[in-house]
Amino acid sequence: MPFSALKLHPTLVRGVDKLGFKRPSPIQSEAIPPALEGRDLLACAATGSGKTAAFLLPILHQLVDRPRGTTRALVLAPTRELACQIRDDLNALAQFTGLKSAVVHGGVAMGPQQTAFRRGADVIIATPGRLLDHFQYHYAALSGLEYLVLDEADRMLDMGFLPDIRRVLRHVPKPKQIFFFSATMPPPIEKLTREILQEPAKITLQRKAAPAEGVSHAAYPVLANQRGALLVDLLRRGHIDDALVFTRTKHRADRLARLLNRNGIFAERIHGNRSQPQRTKALAGFKSGKFRVLVATDIAARGIDVEALGHVVNFDVPAAPDDYIHRVGRTARAEATGEALTLVMPESEADLAGIERALGLTIPRIRLEDFAYGVAPSAPQGGNAKNRAKSTAQRSGNARWSTAKPANGKRAATQSANGSSEGKNRPRRRRYGKRRT
Ligand code: AMP
Repeated sequence: MPFSALKLHPTLVRGVDKLGFKRPSPIQSEAIPPALEGRDLLACAATGSGKTAAFLLPILHQLVDRPRGTTRALVLAPTRELACQIRDDLNALAQFTGLKSAVVHGGVAMGPQQTAFRRGADVIIATPGRLLDHFQYHYAALSGLEYLVLDEADRMLDMGFLPDIRRVLRHVPKPKQIFFFSATMPPPIEKLTREILQEPAKITLQRKAAPAEGVSHAAYPVLANQRGALLVDLLRRGHIDDALVFTRTKHRADRLARLLNRNGIFAERIHGNRSQPQRTKALAGFKSGKFRVLVATDIAARGIDVEALGHVVNFDVPAAPDDYIHRVGRTARAEATGEALTLVMPESEADLAGIERALGLTIPRIRLEDFAYGVAPSAPQGGNAKNRAKSTAQRSGNARWSTAKPANGKRAATQSANGSSEGKNRPRRRRYGKRRT
């Protein structure tokens, strides 16, 4: 089905064309028609499915011919990064419409956000905490609000935002339409949907939440104190060219970024202790290719959208299957292919097995040939940089790469690794993933 079949406003079709979107993604073709008819939406879609345009396009369509200067749509998102990503998507989709958006999140001054409320930005995209700060003032009454979106509602629940969401709902006028998006539907979220949605069109693309197709999965068993060295080797040998690397803690993110930099691999980090300008700079540097690796904690990584990011690395096995989905959802977005690598310590095997069971995946275990397994590095998270760099550079060899098969036997995307480490450590532009045809 082409985009034109959705009968969107011509300015939006132009925007979609300009972005190079050839046809609506499944979530878009299912969500947009009922949304244009004025129905509420309840969508359970994996990240990377094109869900942002699925809720933005119908809203923009309904706003484009309306008088300007009134905020008619509010999008709630769990993190600053996701809010900014939605704003960027909106600006791209609405580039020929003249519609204006503003983003409202913590960590930056209130003043410009206040101006956006006063001027009546057509769409405000906000994180709940900062939005509630503004709600204390009369300029933020949002009395003309008609459309409300809750994006990544399950993540907002995880982050403890459910009471804040309820406060927001009490403050704003009853919206004409609500679009509710969540990758998973835990019971408190389901309860909320029953309370606030009216006969919503229900869109569930997968029965069970699952990582986007096009991701191949691999696990590297390794001892805890050798994970840093293994990751350095994978990067040096070119098995990974650029990667978003997840750690469970902020402290570990810092230490890992330092280790990588000491080994000549440009890395930055993004987590809750970093200021908004630092996060923005790290993300921009990663997107431009200045940094080859971005180390992130789960929460900070929400909303990171790097077009066709090749690799996501779980430096720690994520605590829950949903986290795995969210993490690997950062790669293979919108029909590209990508790789999810998990470093698995013996003590985390049970967690990984739980994730495999929950997602119906069998993740192949890979051994990196010629890696000094079992030989304790002198300083796994640091040490003499010069010597470490030398010893890792001296090692060579290829990892056997195979792909995970979903339980139904359908083959996921294949990927071969090349063993060259030449020139892998210099900054580069983001490599664009292959589009599946
Ligand atoms: P989302 O699930 O909204 O985070 O979308 C992920 C990515 O898919 C973004 O980079 C979008 O630009 C891209 N995208 C959204 N819709 C389409 C489409 N119909 N065709 C190709 N790419 C798309």
